[in-house]
Amino acid sequence: MAGVIRRLDETVVNRIAAGEVIQRPANAIKEMLENCLDAKSTNVQVTVKEGGLKLIQIQDNGTGIRKEDMDIVCERFTTSKLQSFEDLSAISTYGFRGEALASISHVAHVTITTKTKDAKCAYRANYSDGKPKGPPKPCAGNQGTQILVEDLFYNVSTRRKALKSPGEEYARIVEVVSRYAIHNSGKSLSVKKQGETVADVRTLPDASVVDNIRGVFGNAVSRELIEVGCEDTKFAFKLKGYISNANYSVKKCILVLFINHRLVESGALKKALETVYAAYLPKNTHPFLYLSLEIAPHNIDVNVHPTKHEVHFLHEDSIIESVQKHVESKLLGSNSSRTYFTQTMLPGLSVSEVKPPSSSARGDAAGADPSDRVYAHQMVRTDCRAQKLDAFLQPREKTAPGPSGAGGASGSSGGGGGGGAGAGAVWAESGAEMEATEDAALLEALGEVGEVGEVEDMEPASRDSTTTPDQPRKRPRTSQEEGEELTAAATPRRRVIKLNSIKELRTEISEDTHKGLQEMLQNHSFVGCVNPQWTLIQHHTKLYLLNSTKLSQELFRQILIYDFGNFGVLRLSSPAPLYDLAMLALESEESGWTEEDGPREGLAQYITDFLRNKHEMLEDYFSLEIDQDGNLTGLPLLLDHYSPVMEGLPMFILRLATEVNWDDEKECFGDFAKECSQFYAIRKQFILDAEPGEEPQEGEGGSWRWKVEHVVFKALRSLFSPPKSFSEDGSVLQIANLPDLYKVFERC
Ligand code: ADP
Ligand code: MG
Repeated sequence: MAGVIRRLDETVVNRIAAGEVIQRPANAIKEMLENCLDAKSTNVQVTVKEGGLKLIQIQDNGTGIRKEDMDIVCERFTTSKLQSFEDLSAISTYGFRGEALASISHVAHVTITTKTKDAKCAYRANYSDGKPKGPPKPCAGNQGTQILVEDLFYNVSTRRKALKSPGEEYARIVEVVSRYAIHNSGKSLSVKKQGETVADVRTLPDASVVDNIRGVFGNAVSRELIEVGCEDTKFAFKLKGYISNANYSVKKCILVLFINHRLVESGALKKALETVYAAYLPKNTHPFLYLSLEIAPHNIDVNVHPTKHEVHFLHEDSIIESVQKHVESKLLGSNSSRTYFTQTMLPGLSVSEVKPPSSSARGDAAGADPSDRVYAHQMVRTDCRAQKLDAFLQPREKTAPGPSGAGGASGSSGGGGGGGAGAGAVWAESGAEMEATEDAALLEALGEVGEVGEVEDMEPASRDSTTTPDQPRKRPRTSQEEGEELTAAATPRRRVIKLNSIKELRTEISEDTHKGLQEMLQNHSFVGCVNPQWTLIQHHTKLYLLNSTKLSQELFRQILIYDFGNFGVLRLSSPAPLYDLAMLALESEESGWTEEDGPREGLAQYITDFLRNKHEMLEDYFSLEIDQDGNLTGLPLLLDHYSPVMEGLPMFILRLATEVNWDDEKECFGDFAKECSQFYAIRKQFILDAEPGEEPQEGEGGSWRWKVEHVVFKALRSLFSPPKSFSEDGSVLQIANLPDLYKVFERC
């Protein structure tokens, strides 16, 4: 039996239509918020109760509504923003269909209180089903409009039931308001629950876009933003916004997208942007983007249904591609300052196993394959004596012989002896340059108290004939090797240390050795210094970024413990008064000195006396020489051709007196080694990073690059037991793997 067709009651029709426009409180708020902004408001306050289902109140300071219009304002298709169909193609306001308020009034009780600039007072009217319940009543009020929406969906029970959780609805409301707040910097927007005094989101009129992003999404993302912006005449669009860089990632992509100032969604654009980031971010993590696109009105179909968030526009593919390219170029541009905080675990290096030394260039992938076959993608330069990156750089006019010049080879492998006779001569040069460039300021400071050192300000002197600067020292590596016979064989007059404390410290180091890292350091190829703090090395098919500061500090700490009692001396040609060094340190901010600590002079005197009293022990064990008058005259020679940067000396002296536990033997030696190694470590703040190419006298003993490559990394090959923590604290980072790079190329 066919059904009977009947005309629906008008109120039912209106209610159904309204339900389509307003599906949940957040939709209603978005529409009303846009009305406020259309009315040129600079301050909009949203208050809600029970997720907006009980009450929504929106107060603005815009133009207001004329009293004459209050009768029809809630009727369908009434608007002040559009007159002819042609206007549609040039519309610049959000609303244009006169549908929002009407729809809301069909599913809720609406009260409008409004005052225009010219009106003598405000007027209030209640609405239901698109019609005012009576004539507007005069009342008190400021310029602007307040719209009150109560009992949303009171007459649509199915809809009300579908929206069960006020918490969830409130979260959506906060999301909408906060996104509009970001997009409307310069205006103040806020949202709060009724009865609360503190708003959940509040932006200030003088805040920037980044301030507002910080307020809404937090500090972590706002710190890592790159500004984007471009204009395209061909497809007539303009892009502005902020995107997160490669340091930042979140579990779910956040794309705050405004097209022609309307909050919208575009799955296609989101997908395109995510592919750009996929190359930069760790797997399964995503970026944050706030983009504002302005597309010529004639290219975008603004006549979309209010609930249709997903937009489409003319030349969509081309515009998306263009935006994608721009974002990628910005990301790449920021990549130079990219740091690898996210990756701290070292993949592929085992803690305990030492791989059998292989002469062939074998990739790690081959490790899983029992056959010895070497695939093309695994064939890389892994011989550290082979040509280095430097060979491809412009050769210098002046090629002064470096310390390794004596040997003729610039290969940095440990091998046999060092530069032989040549080394001593170059050492003097290195001292000269060090004075000229790095230590000028300190020497100047010291100059006031003593004579400024000449070229030979510091010059290595050996404590005895067994430790001349030229002689490579080999540290005993195993407990068996530590035996007297072997030590005696290697360096006949090396003192044998029988102190338990030192033996324990040595055992701790060797037990904490990361064998995989040790093997890697022993067989690495030096690639180059990124800056004083970061160095690149290659090992098999992998490229690693190493924290030179941390590695060198640990290296010097270990040398201080292994060579305990057997150091050469770096003698200062003019003695440096401990008192003045302590004063310099106390005057620096780093010392943390405050008035409460008492006068600096008294402290400096105390430090001088304290260390002078320990001079015998310091000299005997650590070759730290202090004379009768409290002057520092010598420092331990930890590595040939290496002297610490003297800017760190005052703090070292201060910390010796304050940070070392002098009462416990083992702790004392351990603390001393720690403090001293901190002073000797390669420290970025003390090294002026010259532009590449401006490096003074490249290749000679004085440049920090030379020291890093030929002294520190050479020692890391043979004298170092990397602690296990280095594989997971970011000191050693894998940044590329050749087979993976092949995959990238294949994709291109
Ligand atoms: P539209 O925004 O599409 O014009 P609405 O139903 O959202 O339709 O609003 C109808 C009319 O009510 C608007 O054209 C505007 O004139 C007026 N109006 C609504 N909200 C405000 C407001 N906050 N301030 C001033 N005028 C408003
Ligand atoms: Mg509107």
